[in-house]
Amino acid sequence: MSVEISISKLVQGLEPSATLAMSAKAKEIKSSGKTVYDLSVGEPDFITPQHICDAGTAAMKAGYTKYTIASGIPELKKAIAEKYKADYGLDYNTNQIVISNGAKHSIHNVFFTTIDPNDEVIIPAPYWVSYAEIVKLSGGIPVIVQTKESDNFKMSPAQLEQAITPKTKMLLLCSPSNPTGVMYSRLELEQIADVVIKKNIFVLADEIYDKLIYGDNKFVSFPTIRDGLQERTIVVNGVSKTYAMTGWRVGWTFSPVNVAKKMGELQSQETSNPCSISQYAALAAITGSQDCVTEMLNAFKQRRDYVAKRIAEIDGLSCPEMGGAFYAFFNIKKHLGKKIGNSTINNSEQFCLELLTQKQVATVMGSSFGCEGYVRASFAASIDVLKNAYDRIADFVS
Ligand code: PMP
Ligand code: GLU
Repeated sequence: MSVEISISKLVQGLEPSATLAMSAKAKEIKSSGKTVYDLSVGEPDFITPQHICDAGTAAMKAGYTKYTIASGIPELKKAIAEKYKADYGLDYNTNQIVISNGAKHSIHNVFFTTIDPNDEVIIPAPYWVSYAEIVKLSGGIPVIVQTKESDNFKMSPAQLEQAITPKTKMLLLCSPSNPTGVMYSRLELEQIADVVIKKNIFVLADEIYDKLIYGDNKFVSFPTIRDGLQERTIVVNGVSKTYAMTGWRVGWTFSPVNVAKKMGELQSQETSNPCSISQYAALAAITGSQDCVTEMLNAFKQRRDYVAKRIAEIDGLSCPEMGGAFYAFFNIKKHLGKKIGNSTINNSEQFCLELLTQKQVATVMGSSFGCEGYVRASFAASIDVLKNAYDRIADFVS
């Protein structure tokens, strides 16, 4: 008799992370000996700066290899609080900070701690692949607000107001945005904040790209926008993008004390502390010289300009100005319905799969970000890789 362990109803409908799935596909092709130009996953190509790695080694040697307080080491919480105070003038106590296994885990903690069954969470699309899935796992309902390329993929205050119902608990804001790189201006954030306050809802502000800002754009931390907003906002941030530390898995939240207390307790039951060694490395990242951040930012700026130029030159492709983060989200609608070999490309998934198999360029389909007709390509790659990738994309679409 064959038996099969059944899958829980909770995770049956779960969509796997498309960014990680495309990256795994690219790695699989690479391991067969082929060159792949991988623009799929959003991950700095730089190695973690040496002084941060050294701090990790020193932590191991000093015996910081044991459990820490589940919500994170006090030194790191203090350093994070001081940095947000210095950078944005925000006051947080250490009892408002929970350090987790990456910002993705922090987002999980936020929704599992604040969302009751059928609470609605407003998510402007295109959105990062994990938001809606984590909301659903927590029992909540993602309410997607579709934005348009002609509006630079930004949600207007009127769109927000229209999406709010008596069940709305929270708005998720990500600026600069993954996947579009678009940033809300201070004025636009003020208008959104006014709706948030008027309608008495809460905000999860994903500020993970706060240090990757280009041109004249200025990052504004959401709770600073209006008085009283700090009590209604939970901020998420982490070391993955700013310090090229994706594999170390350290992220955190700033929240009201009651939420932080419960998130710490949740974490104490689910994962215990984030990796002790990584926490000491993150401490070195935050308290050490920030020259490495400037150097990486300068490289990203150059790549952004290069990619913007290449996209503008390719027939039919277009994308909004990338004010921050390291993604281009380009329109491929003109190329849908075309044939390549025996296959017709009808959607962004087919576009990405054919581009990968025929030209060895890995990207991620817009449909996974809630926006069909677009493709996301990371520019956290060397100019050489980008040149080869865009030569091939140009060739592919022609
Ligand atoms: N938020 C956004 C918008 C992201 O792009 C990412 C990238 N993975 C995360 C959160 C999570 O980052 P991590 O878990 O690596 O800290
Ligand atoms: N945030 C990155 C991305 O969007 C990393 C992958 C992930 O965590 O999904 O590609």
